[in-house]
Amino acid sequence: MSRYWSAVVHGLTPYVPGEQPKLDNLIKLNTNELPFGPSPAALAAIRAETSDSLRLYPDPNADRLKTALADRHRVAPNQVFVGNGSDEVLAHAFQGLLRQQAPVWFPDITYSFYPVYCGLYGIEYEPITLDESFRVRVSDYLPSDDRRAGGIVIANPNAPTGRLSPIEDIERIVAGNPQCVVLVDEAYVDFGGTSAIGLVASHPNLLVVHTFSKSRALAGLRVGYAIGQADLIEGLERVKNSFNSYPLDRLAIAGAVASVEDEAWFRDTCDRVIANREQLAADLTQAGFEVLPSAANFVFARHPDHDAAALARALRERAIIVRHFARPRIDQFLRITVGTREQCARLVEALQEILAG
Ligand SMILES: *Cc1c(COP(=O)(O)O)cnc(C)c1O
Repeated sequence: MSRYWSAVVHGLTPYVPGEQPKLDNLIKLNTNELPFGPSPAALAAIRAETSDSLRLYPDPNADRLKTALADRHRVAPNQVFVGNGSDEVLAHAFQGLLRQQAPVWFPDITYSFYPVYCGLYGIEYEPITLDESFRVRVSDYLPSDDRRAGGIVIANPNAPTGRLSPIEDIERIVAGNPQCVVLVDEAYVDFGGTSAIGLVASHPNLLVVHTFSKSRALAGLRVGYAIGQADLIEGLERVKNSFNSYPLDRLAIAGAVASVEDEAWFRDTCDRVIANREQLAADLTQAGFEVLPSAANFVFARHPDHDAAALARALRERAIIVRHFARPRIDQFLRITVGTREQCARLVEALQEILAG
């Protein structure tokens, strides 16, 4: 507390990221990073950019990256916005597109940064309760005479549940809410979902957000992007250019472009993660866990007879860290990032030991 803080700062409840432990030799399954390194081509491009050129500012518009992403997703470059991680893209979208007269709707259980942005920008929000299996019910997201959204945010697949809504459900929500922007956060879509980017051409109110942090194994580079119709993107550019002209540095632009161009690495890596996820889910089920169906690079699981917080502590004693959220409805679940096959096997062994304990 300080008397020099503004009233806004006094009122903030900041997001708490998953732990980045300083210890070596931990099996780190708590923040949904990939267990594999990024595309070797991306690393080579970053090294090549590590030169005297760093004395120069980067391209403020990151045109090379926008073009590469536009080509990959079959949209025009002016339909692409890039930012310093998708968290920054989301922040600009909340401020520039979702701050309206009516409250923003998002699920009661979802990425916990959304309410934080609402706090920062003074946006009212209404949590919409997921059904008992943590599914999005489309009818809850359609306006009625006395109830309409100023914006809607859906993570698909959702976090921390991993559950995927069918693309038809997303389309019904987008089509049913022409009065506001529907933001679909597809941080995990590459692990088995269908992207809503294909709907952008026919829906002026749809903004789809992606990240390089998960499926491209570049969380440390901080690159995210949004795809929408050109006027939505221009709105984000206006916010960005009133905040920081150079959110992507030279290394980030070079690495991200090379990553997008390495489609073979990308496909192979996503396939490996999906295969490991299916094995992990089967092994956990075998060990007595209930595992929610996941289309992400993590699983969300609970054991009927063992307290989740206690399990997380016992795993930590065995140098394995997973994520536990002490929040209503989900405090008996563990969110476990899909690791290498060996990491997953060691996790399952450790859990078997603890359960036998
Ligand atoms: C990881 C994650 C992000 C943030 O990604 P960055 O690009 O690393 O900022 C955004 N949304 C969801 C749902 C995530 O899980």
